[in-house]
Amino acid sequence: MSNSISEITTSLLKLSLKDFSVKEYAHESAQYLLKSTEFVEGGVIAICLLKKGTRTLELITDIGLFEESDNIDEILNTSECAFMTSARRGETTILNCDGCPNKKCSWNTPKDIHVFPLKVQNSTFGILCLALSEDDSPSDKKLNDSKLLADTLAEIIFNTINHERHKLLTYFAHENPSPLIECAANGEILYTNPAVKKILWQQSIDISELLSVNHQDFLANSIVSQLPETVVSDSGESSFLWSYQYVPETDKVLIFGTDISSQKRIENQLAYDSMFDHLTGLPNRNHLLSQIRSELSVIKKRNDYTFALLLINLDRFKTIIESLGFTAGNSALKTVAKRLAKWNNNDNLVARLDGDEFAVIIEDMPNMSQIMDVANAIKIAISKDIIVKKHTIRLTESIGIAIGNTNSKSAEELLQNASAAVYRAKRQGTNHTEVYDKEMHLNALARLRVSNELNDAIDNGDLKVYYQPVFGLHDLRVRGFEALARWEHPVRGLIGPGSFISIAEDSGLIHKLGKHVIKSICAQLYKWQNDKLPLAWVSVNVSAHQFKLNHLVTDIINIITEEKADPYRLFVEITEGTAAESPERAFKMMVKLREHGIRIALDDFGTGYSSMSYLKRFPIDALKIDKSFVDGLPENQEDVAIVTSVITMAQALGMKVVAEGVEDERQAMFLRAQNCDEVQGFLYGKPMPAIKATALLRNGPFQGKKSDSKIPIGKIKLKPLTSDHNE
Ligand code: C2E
Ligand code: CA
Ligand code: CA
Repeated sequence: MSNSISEITTSLLKLSLKDFSVKEYAHESAQYLLKSTEFVEGGVIAICLLKKGTRTLELITDIGLFEESDNIDEILNTSECAFMTSARRGETTILNCDGCPNKKCSWNTPKDIHVFPLKVQNSTFGILCLALSEDDSPSDKKLNDSKLLADTLAEIIFNTINHERHKLLTYFAHENPSPLIECAANGEILYTNPAVKKILWQQSIDISELLSVNHQDFLANSIVSQLPETVVSDSGESSFLWSYQYVPETDKVLIFGTDISSQKRIENQLAYDSMFDHLTGLPNRNHLLSQIRSELSVIKKRNDYTFALLLINLDRFKTIIESLGFTAGNSALKTVAKRLAKWNNNDNLVARLDGDEFAVIIEDMPNMSQIMDVANAIKIAISKDIIVKKHTIRLTESIGIAIGNTNSKSAEELLQNASAAVYRAKRQGTNHTEVYDKEMHLNALARLRVSNELNDAIDNGDLKVYYQPVFGLHDLRVRGFEALARWEHPVRGLIGPGSFISIAEDSGLIHKLGKHVIKSICAQLYKWQNDKLPLAWVSVNVSAHQFKLNHLVTDIINIITEEKADPYRLFVEITEGTAAESPERAFKMMVKLREHGIRIALDDFGTGYSSMSYLKRFPIDALKIDKSFVDGLPENQEDVAIVTSVITMAQALGMKVVAEGVEDERQAMFLRAQNCDEVQGFLYGKPMPAIKATALLRNGPFQGKKSDSKIPIGKIKLKPLTSDHNE
């Protein structure tokens, strides 16, 4: 053969124009050299490349060198061996196994092998191994030609490697569903993949709108730092996380985008949920508190700044839920929210706290009369009829106002103050507005102190039960007693329930107090029974708070059992208001009590809101006419009319009537004439300690009838709430 080296390199270059992979090209060129030239007389040719990262040699084509070896990797990467030496140092070496110091290696090649580095721009990336002649050492010319050949192959293989990598990159970029952009260092956009084009098309935006507004800065930073720089951008409904990566080899920046819209949506939803009320879409308590905090921070800068927090609590909302159900209740709440929002017209923050409580913040509002105007405007906005499930509801609300000024310590405290004001408004009935003041705070503190003391009093036995006798009006015998709580305070003397029941209700102590009272009563009933005293009943007052407890009946029954008392001797007094507040619940409780033989008296009758229809359906044994009606007897015609009609109605329904607060004979006479059954009042006896009540039972003057024993409960007919039937 007499192919000149230039002919050979030309042929090798031509080969490279075919679309070969690196491996294919190495193989094809080796075959060409062996078959078509006499360049490699020794018949051995192999090409190895240094693997990126590990810098170990990998055989990619081999003719005649390693054919019988099974530990090629080990041989190639033995540091003493010519292969590695050449690859590391970038020098040509000759492999001669005869003189090899590495005896461990069992491989042996009989021929001299020349190992040439494959390098580009002085960086070695592989080796070319050739047996240049059959036996003699090759001529200098051949050696030089071989180096030239190695350089040619190096260049072609290097380009093929790059081309292959680029092909891969292009493929990756093209097929990638995530956006990918290539920029020149000066910011010029060189390439955008189809995913980018799709987004631009879908959102009808151009690329500058897709990328972050700080795109140029991030591009520059990534080039300077040579580290990935990330930024989030929003476009339309979508959000993308962009990672800028500078590629020094190409002096270009690749920008990889990740669609984080769904994550963003979840984050936004979470953020929304934490700040907005689900039902009404109004800001929630968190939102309100953070708004109050920002108002308070304004005060820090401007100490003449004031704002108002209005807490709006719907009156008797529970009744709506109980009579019309939750769905109707929710729709009423939504209507209230809409009306507040419409009234507000985005001027103030309107929030919904829990249940039936809303709040409004009025910014920069120093004038109290203006604040009151706002409160009234809110009342007007809410008060229009609401129609749910074909029922017309008219809502009223109690409003508590707290003023944010330099004295305000925290958002929580301000909200608490507004709550205290709502509470006071509620205590005055419905549709009231109250402004929180210092006195209220002191009042709250005092109430807390009383509650603690009262707790101790119950434990110490200072909380006593007094008994006020109830007489049969016709025979003037003791029929029973109303049990009334008294606090025998070691310092302040005897304290009436008016001073502590509401405190006990607010602090929750009422449950403990109630149980204590019932326990004392039951113990007393057992004693009277044991002492064979005339049988009298005792009625116990149960407040609305106690009535809300599901286990009230169980508690009462357990105490009766423990104290071995007779349940037929016990009346439970609930006020008309308590029964009217949640009639369904009241009905169920009454039925349960009745099942155990306990009787029911409706207290303070005439002061509540109960319609006669409730009364007919409730399983009630006695009606107590409130003292306020008895007071006017017999002169006040209105009182006369009311008392007379109540007595006739009660008799028609088979209930007994007790008149409360009878203080003089003329009242008693009138009541007797109207056939009232029983009387209770200072005229006959004040509330007295148990020992005096016992003496009264024992000695008269009015002896209880022995025959007033158990009322057979089977005879008491329960009137179902759902039917309209009369007895
Ligand atoms: P109430 O159930 O209406 O009790 C009747 C109140 O009228 C009692 O007041 C009684 O002393 C008073 N009274 C009776 N006859 C006359 C009279 O002729 N003239 C005048 N001026 N007053 C009369 P008291 O004992 O101060 O009780 C007030 C309220 O405290 C009771 O009203 C009741 O609602 C509540 N209460 C009392 N003890 C308890 C209790 O153990 N538990 C609960 N939850 N509430 C209680
Ligand atoms: Ca009572
Ligand atoms: Ca009463």
